[in-house]
Amino acid sequence: MGRTPVELVDSYGRTHRDLRISVTDRCNFRCTYCMPEEGLAWVARQEVLTFEEIERVARVCVERFGFDSIRLTGGEPTVRAHLPVLVAKLAALDVDLAMTTNGSSLRAQARALRAAGLGRLNISLDSLRPERFAALTRRDELHSVLDGIDAALEAGFDPVKLNVVCMEGVNDDEVVDFATFGRQRGVEVRFIEFMPLDAGHTWSKVQVVPGERIVAAIHAVHPLRPLARGSEPAEVFEYLDGGGRVGAIASVTAPFCARCDRVRLTAEGRLRNCLFSMEETDVRAVLRGGGSDDHLARSISSCVAAKGPGHQIGSVSFVQPPRTMSQIGG
Ligand code: SAM
Ligand code: SF4
Repeated sequence: MGRTPVELVDSYGRTHRDLRISVTDRCNFRCTYCMPEEGLAWVARQEVLTFEEIERVARVCVERFGFDSIRLTGGEPTVRAHLPVLVAKLAALDVDLAMTTNGSSLRAQARALRAAGLGRLNISLDSLRPERFAALTRRDELHSVLDGIDAALEAGFDPVKLNVVCMEGVNDDEVVDFATFGRQRGVEVRFIEFMPLDAGHTWSKVQVVPGERIVAAIHAVHPLRPLARGSEPAEVFEYLDGGGRVGAIASVTAPFCARCDRVRLTAEGRLRNCLFSMEETDVRAVLRGGGSDDHLARSISSCVAAKGPGHQIGSVSFVQPPRTMSQIGG
């Protein structure tokens, strides 16, 4: 008989149940707010965790600490070869298994991922206009992402959510277009505030479109009512006419740090207790140094124990971490 999981509670009383796994730091896109045009210095292949190593960390989180939710991300997770093999290993842990992707490879991969046991998909898309999309991602691939959304729905993913990073003067004029698109396609759009995790370190608060403003703009055209807030970071609304749901993640203007239940594993096996953390725990050293599951569990709990109360974005004491979103796993 397995042992009873112990809750992983940090010094601020937050119980951790959600593991975000970056399966690669590489990507086929170059979103201007995430990566430079030339890409980044990629992690060498032998330094990237194997599927067996990832599965072991995930299993310890589930068995020892009762984690019930895992999300695969990156970089772009679908550029990692044989991804369905990893999905099948993680699906066997019987958790809510989801993935965040730029959607460009879903026509080719959605069915296999679904068959392997992936439950939910978030697809990132920041413009519905081909030229703007190409400028934002530095790839002329809007058609593949739109086709990827269709492929995800056809493969039976439910729900499919769209992540839209909304930036002042960049795509804030598309908020209502995205809401209408979501209503028509039956996908839930999540608007995300732009965070200081960009490669160029040029983020400034004036580029952030507050979630409140986004919701007000949609409400003026498609009336909304708020839904009760769960543990998730998004504030979710329902269209009064039954047209589905829409959400806003106000990570900058209304942070959800006080309810954060997440731990992140980078592609090279560093555990992070916060997107904005300056410290990491090297679990790869434990995995490759012959450490036991007890040893691994101690590394995970000490990482969580060291978690701070929340980010200080906007304050004078805030320091942007050296890693970009793609190097952490958003
Ligand atoms: N490549 C996949 C994708 O784009 O969905 C997964 C990784 S990406 C780093 C995860 C999410 O982070 C995407 O929705 C992306 O738009 C978002 N993201 C990246 N940089 C961001 C930033 N500086 N602020 C807010 N969101 C960001
Ligand atoms: Fe790639 Fe996702 Fe970053 Fe865009 S946001 S460059 S798709 S990792």
